[in-house]
Amino acid sequence: MGELYSRTKRFVSKGAEKELGKEHKVLDQGFIRLVDYMGKDGSLVRAARTSYGKGTKKASEDRTLIRYLVRKKHTTPVEFVETIWHAKMPIFVARQWVRHRTASINEYSGRYSIMPDEFFIPELERIQAQSKLNRQGSGDTLPLETQQKVRDLLVSDANQVFDHYNKIQEDGVARELARIGLPLSTYTQWYWKMDLHNLFHFLKLRIDPHAQEEIRKYAIKMGEITKKSFPVAYEAFEDYILNAVNLSTLEQTAMMDIMQGIDINQVAKYRFKNKFERQEFLDKYKLLQSKKEPIEYDFNFQKTNKIIMRKRNKK
Ligand SMILES: Cc1cc2nc3c(=O)[nH]c(=O)nc-3n(C[C@H](O)[C@H](O)[C@H](O)COP(=O)(O)OP(=O)(O)OC[C@H]3O[C@@H](n4cnc5c(N)ncnc54)[C@H](O)[C@@H]3O)c2cc1C
Repeated sequence: MGELYSRTKRFVSKGAEKELGKEHKVLDQGFIRLVDYMGKDGSLVRAARTSYGKGTKKASEDRTLIRYLVRKKHTTPVEFVETIWHAKMPIFVARQWVRHRTASINEYSGRYSIMPDEFFIPELERIQAQSKLNRQGSGDTLPLETQQKVRDLLVSDANQVFDHYNKIQEDGVARELARIGLPLSTYTQWYWKMDLHNLFHFLKLRIDPHAQEEIRKYAIKMGEITKKSFPVAYEAFEDYILNAVNLSTLEQTAMMDIMQGIDINQVAKYRFKNKFERQEFLDKYKLLQSKKEPIEYDFNFQKTNKIIMRKRNKK
């Protein structure tokens, strides 16, 4: 136990080594840290070559192979990297997190141990109104006095419930029963193991702006750590999964309308009868518009037989 070997025959990721054990604060009292891992970018290549042979060997070809695997959803080689995390989060975050079924989890036991007096209390600006667009989301900013009142209520409720939790235990009640009145804001902790393929799936769903802000904060931090640990695979994940825009058949038709010069608002109104689908299409279009950058095409077929694209601002 606890011995550190300076020499190993295993694959080592320099980025992951720097991250190991480093605690990153999330929310008011939570944290996330990478506690262990197996493999590195090269693990995907090694696993994949059992099916593709030794045809490609250079580092640049390794990168191409990793990108191919992620792009073509050849996912099993991506499962050959493992990650283990130690997370401390409020129970309402853990409830969303635990829905990702491909993890191995070992959680703090409120039957065995006393639950610490730790609750998540949101910052004032996070206390927002119910969203009018998304039934699962938050919306407009509330007046400061409302935010303050709500925060005070959350603090006093948490203190009162914890006071009762202590009193119940003083009466000799079992911890497994004493805890049942604790709120969803109570902090819990776990060790969480997941392979890289399923971690990418988790990150895609939980970094997404539709996920609740509190779990997003964990996912964003985990994404940063994963990026440092497995940079080539993560770059492919960003390009082909995280930042990819998926267009339904209807959205493809609407895009063709726009490319033929029809106004976006008319297209949205005419094509999308469902207001949620319409809004999703408008959001996707806005996202695509934000990627627009000025470019100039040089057609130089005689020399290179290729179209050379040059950014105007680089001239
Ligand atoms: C924004 C958002 C809102 C949500 N809202 C709700 C909600 O209101 N109510 C609610 O209950 N949940 C909600 N969820 C949870 C959601 O429905 C999924 O349970 C969760 O995101 C896990 O996704 P997953 O099943 O793809 O992932 P994982 O459990 O990690 O599974 C990964 C993949 O493995 C496969 N898989 C795993 N287990 C099985 C199985 N038993 N059978 C078949 N295939 C399997 C599936 O292909 C799956 O995609 C929400 C999730 C998000 C991101």
